[in-house]
Amino acid sequence: MKDVMDKIKARDPYEKEFQQAVEEVLESIKPVLDKNPQYRHANILERIIEPERIIMFRVPWMDDRGKIKVNRGFRIEMNSAIGPYKGGLRFHPSVNLSILKFLAFEQVYKNALTTLPMGGGKGGSDFDPKGKSDNEVMRFCQSFMSELFHHIGPNTDIPAGDIGVGAREIGFLFGMYKKLAKEFTGVLTGKSLNWGGSLIRPEATGYGSVYMAAEMLATKNKNLKNKICLVSGSGNVAQYTTEKILEFGGKVITLSDSSGYIFDEAGITREKLNYIMTLKNIRRGRIEEYIERYPEAVYTPVDPKLDFNPLWDHKADCAFPSATQNEINGKDAQNLINNGVFAVSEGANMPTTPDGVNLFIDHKLLYAPGKAANAGGVAVSGLEMAQNSMRISWPRKEVDNRLKHIMNSIHNSCLEAAEEYGTPGNYFNGANIAGFVKVVDAMLDQGVV
Ligand code: NAP
Repeated sequence: MKDVMDKIKARDPYEKEFQQAVEEVLESIKPVLDKNPQYRHANILERIIEPERIIMFRVPWMDDRGKIKVNRGFRIEMNSAIGPYKGGLRFHPSVNLSILKFLAFEQVYKNALTTLPMGGGKGGSDFDPKGKSDNEVMRFCQSFMSELFHHIGPNTDIPAGDIGVGAREIGFLFGMYKKLAKEFTGVLTGKSLNWGGSLIRPEATGYGSVYMAAEMLATKNKNLKNKICLVSGSGNVAQYTTEKILEFGGKVITLSDSSGYIFDEAGITREKLNYIMTLKNIRRGRIEEYIERYPEAVYTPVDPKLDFNPLWDHKADCAFPSATQNEINGKDAQNLINNGVFAVSEGANMPTTPDGVNLFIDHKLLYAPGKAANAGGVAVSGLEMAQNSMRISWPRKEVDNRLKHIMNSIHNSCLEAAEEYGTPGNYFNGANIAGFVKVVDAMLDQGVV
């Protein structure tokens, strides 16, 4: 295993996030390799860390002043052992090969956990939609899709949204795909309801993360009623996480964006959440504006000099990191534990650094890693694909019940795999092991391809 890590570090020394994601999986699966020598004989580790295909391309577009801009476009087709590539597109200035490879790698095991037949992929661009007009975003999306369309298809690779790619971007991307491919198919998920989207898709990641927390709490005869919750982010995942926590009777006291966070001790009510949804989804404003409307709350801007995030330093019971990778470091994890947090459900992908993860595990928190906790989004994307193929749409209740059922099944598979391989209650190991075994068994069946 050390050989594999050394090889990655030597080959791609700058891909720190990818190295982190691989290392986390390799550490968990050591007992699986010890028990199953066939995986080692088939050199499975070296095969899973190499993407099946990487597509990188130029995305030229014109801004509203007539200036030509150039961004980089990517699609990582990581693994198609159990189904076509599936995973979101991220538009954010921080996007690079390392971040997309880490996301694609995580996606492979997450998708396997959903029980649906989906391989793993991820893509995006270093384009920043913030501060751009709708027309600029449209021109960018059209240029991006004019290359991507060569590589995707409803049975090949089915992208969706992620950071910076919401309903507006999916609409522009789909329009261009349809024009170029001359066909109306379910090639993207997260579509609007009136042209092929699924009910509950926008809510699915946040709802799923809260369902996962509720499942974990139930193992200790607890529930979310009256629990104080810290949520980070204020985008898609954070909004619907907050909505579901409120439905379950919990109290959310924080939300954030990349400029800072708000602390509302009285709790973010349904009415306040509606204000945030309009602020973020329609006016595309900053979370700081919340205190103009609700002056009893406190806004704290990001302080780059701090080596911890004060959002995680409040008395609470549960934490739902829902913004981005590595947003909880070792110090933050210790602050959460000191403040009484006993459950963490990761809506974001890899939001906790390895030293933070170790602290959660050592202190026996109910800790669901992103691969398991945020799999509800891609699960309902899988259900959107199924509805598109059948040319029907299921009612809200049916999709929500399927989502609950899938989250319950993910929860149980994590616990069973953790138990089988000697770390009972460790959802982190359980998620990695259950996802890994399913994917590599399919790879072995399919030969050296
Ligand atoms: P989103 O709607 O674009 O919202 C992202 C939120 O996180 C925004 O509030 C954003 O603030 C904040 N954020 C982004 N980068 C940040 C950074 N570097 N530092 C601090 N804050 C940052 O995206 P989303 O769909 O909610 O995704 C959030 C997380 O969930 C990501 O890790 C994503 O990969 C994961 N996820 C999403 C889905 C899904 O279905 N959408 C599914 C599975 C996992 P600004 O507006 O200031 O950038």
